[in-house]
Amino acid sequence: MTRQLFAEPSHDCPLCPRLADFRTAWRVREPGWFNGPVPTFLPPEGEDAVRFLIVGLAPGLRGANRTGRPFTGDYAGELLYDTLIRFGFARGRFEARPDDSLELIGTAITNAVRCVPPENKPVGLEIATCRAFLTPTIARFQNLEAILTLGTIAHQSTVRALGKRIADYPFRHGASQSVGAVRLFSSYHCSRYNTNTGRLTTEMFVGVFEEVARFLARQHAEMS
Ligand code: SF4
Repeated sequence: MTRQLFAEPSHDCPLCPRLADFRTAWRVREPGWFNGPVPTFLPPEGEDAVRFLIVGLAPGLRGANRTGRPFTGDYAGELLYDTLIRFGFARGRFEARPDDSLELIGTAITNAVRCVPPENKPVGLEIATCRAFLTPTIARFQNLEAILTLGTIAHQSTVRALGKRIADYPFRHGASQSVGAVRLFSSYHCSRYNTNTGRLTTEMFVGVFEEVARFLARQHAEMS
């Protein structure tokens, strides 16, 4: 319980004034939307079941900011959840709403920045400020073995949250490196922009998950 308290901001977190103002404006405009810092999505078994953490950039305005669940309600979630189900990291049916039947298996999903930023672009200070939640989020998972970061910002903030220098752990799509006790995998973000421009294809994204699944299977074999 204590670990969870430190890792989750309040619905009215005031630490980034620009993002708090943006959130407030959207609460007026769309009172039925979530419009708050989006909580980490956990498997039903809870945080001690988590071996794999996915770190995205920030909620999309009409995606997670609307629905309150990471990668839910806009395009990025379609590719992500399809892939998670395909590799056994999730089960059920993804219907782009938080009350669908989708459940994570041994996996959690969070964002480097918990509040929606204007034009999907958080500034450096906001990324650094929200690391106050990313750091304890990573620490709350006592059985964590692998992290997948989606995009450069999520990668760099995760490296810093792990107490390392980003110069020592540069972002490269498809790469993985050991950072302390965890293996850090990196992918381009599964945004519509990246897939539309061909920067990230489904095959490239699936390839990263193949690596993660292989690594976790190896870890499991060594432990049993
Ligand atoms: S982005 Fe993070 S630190 Fe900034 S206001 Fe939202 S929850 Fe708070």
